[in-house]
Amino acid sequence: MKSDTGVSLFGSLPVCLFVICCFVLCLQRAFLCVIMPPTMKADIHPIYYTKATATCACGATYTVGSTKETIAVEICQACHPFYTGLDKVLDTTGRVDKFKKRMSAKK
Ligand SMILES: [Zn+2]
Repeated sequence: MKSDTGVSLFGSLPVCLFVICCFVLCLQRAFLCVIMPPTMKADIHPIYYTKATATCACGATYTVGSTKETIAVEICQACHPFYTGLDKVLDTTGRVDKFKKRMSAKK
């Protein structure tokens, strides 16, 4: 096959053979995965919850996949200024106050 510039897309025979070999190896690997699915080692993996609940400090909840059943986050797409377009101080869980308390206790 020749392109407009006169350069063949599959220029030389070695390149063509390489592409064919890669394709065959991919097919072989896919076939092996179908007939012998990879197995995980027993008793070393944590339980994976496909319907874990992630709760944001703003009150929004999301269903996610996780090794923890419940997750608490401080910011999400419903309250992040980048998504809301609002410029506000994000301290819904009081981390700034905690930091100030720690700093005043040290003095
Ligand atoms: Zn949020």
